[in-house]
Amino acid sequence: MSRRGEILNEMGLAPVWKLRSVREEPEIENENISKAISTMDWPQLKAKVAGCTDCKLRAGCTQTVFGVGDEKADWMLVGEAPGSEEDRLGEPFVGQAGRLLDNMLAAIALSRGNNVYIANVLKCRPPGNRNPEPDEVAKCSPHLLRQIELIKPKLIVAMGRFAAQTLLGTGATIASLRGKAHRYAGVPLIVTYHPAYLLRNLPDKSKAWADLVFARKTIAE
Ligand code: URA
Repeated sequence: MSRRGEILNEMGLAPVWKLRSVREEPEIENENISKAISTMDWPQLKAKVAGCTDCKLRAGCTQTVFGVGDEKADWMLVGEAPGSEEDRLGEPFVGQAGRLLDNMLAAIALSRGNNVYIANVLKCRPPGNRNPEPDEVAKCSPHLLRQIELIKPKLIVAMGRFAAQTLLGTGATIASLRGKAHRYAGVPLIVTYHPAYLLRNLPDKSKAWADLVFARKTIAE
């Protein structure tokens, strides 16, 4: 104990309460990391994600899954997080849901390498495909935001409740978000069902098709 502390103790005035700074250190650190990410170029951003240990997910996944496609794409598709196949291969949407997504893109004459970029909100697979947690999203979403800034797409398609709610900062349902052109970081954003959901709910495929037609109309405007 310091001399001052000892004296105050003797006087019965201990413990000495120190004013804590109003903002906690981790919060300031997160802000600094986000700021650094916001000025990165492609090689820096890729290296940052590849070496990222900002949240607990990296310790439990095989590899980070950065994103795939045309870095000058007009279309940017955003999903939730890598699943087991994506974790194994290091590319988003390569499992069964990814095959459906590729077929849907082909139906509007698009493919993942051609005027389309695909990424997830989270770059690491959550264990057992559990839902992403708020701290994981807070730490990882600056990477996605920077991808969007670098690509400058004409349109973002948010696939599934999680991507839509994260990007739009809302708790609203997919049903209420579909059919409107929202905005994220100044870019028009359209909400549709997640391909994995469509695999389990085949009748909703026609709604996803309507969303893609709406997306195509929006991008042409
Ligand atoms: N689901 C997602 O949201 N993203 C993937 O990359 C794969 C499955």
